[in-house]
Amino acid sequence: MDGADRTTQCCIAGGGPAGIMLGYLLARAGVRVTVLEKHDDFLRDFRGDTIHPSTLTILEDVGLLEAFLALPHQEIAELGGDVYGQLVTLADFRHLPAARPFLVLIPQWDFLDFLAREARRFPGFTLCMGARASAVIEEAGRVVGVQVESRVGKAPLRANLVVAADGRHSSIRPDAGLESVDTGAPIDVLWFRLPRDAAGDPARTGGIIRPGVMLVTLNRDTYWQCAFVIPKGSLERLQQEGIAAFRERIAATAEFLADSVATLRSWDEVKLLSVQISHLTRWWRDGLLCIGDAAHAMSPVGGVGINLAIQDAVAAANLLAGPLRAGTLRAEHLQAVQRRREWPARVTQRVQVAIQNEVLSPVLARSSAPAETPLPVKLLQRIPLLRRLPARLVGIGVRPERVRTGQ
Ligand SMILES: Cc1cc2nc3c(=O)[nH]c(=O)nc-3n(C[C@H](O)[C@H](O)[C@H](O)COP(=O)(O)OP(=O)(O)OC[C@H]3O[C@@H](n4cnc5c(N)ncnc54)[C@H](O)[C@@H]3O)c2cc1C
Repeated sequence: MDGADRTTQCCIAGGGPAGIMLGYLLARAGVRVTVLEKHDDFLRDFRGDTIHPSTLTILEDVGLLEAFLALPHQEIAELGGDVYGQLVTLADFRHLPAARPFLVLIPQWDFLDFLAREARRFPGFTLCMGARASAVIEEAGRVVGVQVESRVGKAPLRANLVVAADGRHSSIRPDAGLESVDTGAPIDVLWFRLPRDAAGDPARTGGIIRPGVMLVTLNRDTYWQCAFVIPKGSLERLQQEGIAAFRERIAATAEFLADSVATLRSWDEVKLLSVQISHLTRWWRDGLLCIGDAAHAMSPVGGVGINLAIQDAVAAANLLAGPLRAGTLRAEHLQAVQRRREWPARVTQRVQVAIQNEVLSPVLARSSAPAETPLPVKLLQRIPLLRRLPARLVGIGVRPERVRTGQ
């Protein structure tokens, strides 16, 4: 950043789904906005890959849907899984009232690159990669900017509003004195890649449940991105059993991985993703607002975190673009964003907690398959209409937003 860039109307700390979408929408609405992303690129693979129908509707609202769907992606109309050897359908998106009734699987870096590229068309948009918001700047009890650390040094960036969109491990949030309440989560995720044989392997992205095991395999064309769910804190025990025992477990769970799992040579190739569910009781203070995972860290259950982060961004843009442009932003506007988005986030987290406790933990504790297919799975297979409910929860969620800011 040079001297000319050191003031802006809105500074967003964090270039994840929440930050880039808010930056795009504010710039589109004529607000001067600077997004700071501490990494040099979006190429990290632990973000989740799902873009849900609610987000496709948002993309249509801003005229980007066709261009987005021109990127390489997969479209998923049904969400299914292999439950103790039985192929089942759990959600059917085909009837959703959305711009497109399917879920898109796309590497998140492609989505963020796309949105950032589109945002750069607006003169008010600045994205600084490799720039970390290291501390908030306060004056007379109000947040008036952030310190920015980058390769070229440290400099203040003053802003009428700072938005913390810096994810579950937000440093801006505690620095500004906002406290997060941790709900706890009984699971963690092991994240690793295995080569995919495009000719021989199945195409299907989905989950596999076996006694004591849950594995999700995401088809990323040339490789499988695997998410192996474990009870929280149990990685050390797995490591003591050795990588060979882990490979055997994968092969026994998913036959199609039996050959490719041999390429997994050491624990260095397996990342531990700590699952966390938390929320802020207060999302804002004068001059500062938290959104996305910084306000409510989501579990991967349902793969809804990205879309909730985007919904927060849309609501924030709807409520704040006008006051930011006019220079009339007050605390009440920030409070209104929390009022609008806190309820959907908390309801979704409660559902995630219930699924973690009532479904995932019992599955991980089992040593043998149940004698009968679990009742909810049975009902979903017998009554296809019921599959619309999980589809609605996952695909659209609670209190969906529409873009109301102009261009
Ligand atoms: C294992 C796992 C799998 C998941 N899978 C899915 C899925 O498939 N689908 C789904 O919808 N959700 C998934 N989620 C949830 C999802 O990842 C989050 O809810 C979502 O990414 C939140 O978006 P965000 O923009 O708020 O934060 P993030 O995506 O965390 O983005 C925050 C950004 O801020 C940057 N940053 C951090 N600190 C600073 C700073 N001080 N200055 C500048 N930049 C900073 C980070 O580098 C990052 O780019 C998953 C979560 C986990 C744990």
